[in-house]
Amino acid sequence: MNRVTNQHLKISPSLAVPDSSPLSARTFPEPDHPYRSHFARDRARILHARAFRRLAGKTQVFSRQPGIQLSDHFRSRLTHTLEVAQIARSLAETLGLNSNLAEALALVHDIGHPPFGHAGEKALDAELQNYGLRFDHNLHALRIITHFEERHPAYRGLNLTLAVREGIIKHSRDYSSHLHPELSEYLLDERPPLEAQLIDLADEIAYLTADLDDGFDSHRITIDQARESVPLFRRFHDEVLHAYPNGTPRLIATEAIKRLLNALATDLMLELTRQIRDAQIQNLSDLRRFPSRLVKLSAVVESERATLKNFLYSNLYLAPDMEEIHTHASLVVQGLFRAFVQNPSLLPADHQAEIPTEGLARTAADYIAGMTDTFIEQTWQRVK
Ligand code: MG
Repeated sequence: MNRVTNQHLKISPSLAVPDSSPLSARTFPEPDHPYRSHFARDRARILHARAFRRLAGKTQVFSRQPGIQLSDHFRSRLTHTLEVAQIARSLAETLGLNSNLAEALALVHDIGHPPFGHAGEKALDAELQNYGLRFDHNLHALRIITHFEERHPAYRGLNLTLAVREGIIKHSRDYSSHLHPELSEYLLDERPPLEAQLIDLADEIAYLTADLDDGFDSHRITIDQARESVPLFRRFHDEVLHAYPNGTPRLIATEAIKRLLNALATDLMLELTRQIRDAQIQNLSDLRRFPSRLVKLSAVVESERATLKNFLYSNLYLAPDMEEIHTHASLVVQGLFRAFVQNPSLLPADHQAEIPTEGLARTAADYIAGMTDTFIEQTWQRVK
């Protein structure tokens, strides 16, 4: 790749979400702050939310379960979120987008995740399906920030801007406007602004590189395995080996991961500038009316990313020795959900109060989804 400078990567300022626009509207009107922008205030509200703090106790890849020795260095959902925010902010600043909005969206992107990572989410969704319902972490995140968080005497929720609520709904998926008329406020037939489009890939870049790193530290994958199966890793690993022939194997791998992260981020930005040019996107409304999202990797790097992801799936996320951990997670979520449905008086009073409007199954799922790994474990020990 030729030397890339900041100038290559700046996109037109007319493609950034401005600090004040219809997208900065809040459900409950508020006076402007004398010196802080709407999106800087949203970022702060998310960071101060209780659901945000609970991310510290939620699984990213490695679950804290009884009898499992776990390094405190492994990513939690909170540290993963902070890494996504770092990447998203850096991309937005380099491109000339609204970096406060991008950072707010990154900080909120995983706030709807239940305990025990994807195993917990799958189990909760399976239980709800018995009642004709589904668990969806984007919709749950929206409920957290509009309903469960209580930070103001006059209204429920964090009263975040429309841009942040729309970004939550459009994180890595599109809802059909026919199937979800209740979400019509979020302009389902339009593509989200670039600040929101960035988050999907900032998330991928953050976890693919972090999981290689934690995978090496946990000895669940080896550097040789990664070299063998992931050409993208091998390329940077060779480069670093050549530059530092006397470096320790672990630090050579660390530097290779850093270069890999940088390469993915740079490719994303170069590809975005190319997409904008090819599609002749001039302003925000062109972008929103365009038939597809513009933030993606180039075709070559995209296939290298997919190879890395497949490698992590077969050797880390779905490795045979992780199965026991996932089974335990499912049993706890299933057991607790059924206990609450059978005996609603086990739910705390404020959750019981939701039953008449939300129904028992949804209320039980909402309570479980908010729990940390340790809290669900303790609650299960008490209830079972
Ligand atoms: Mg994430």
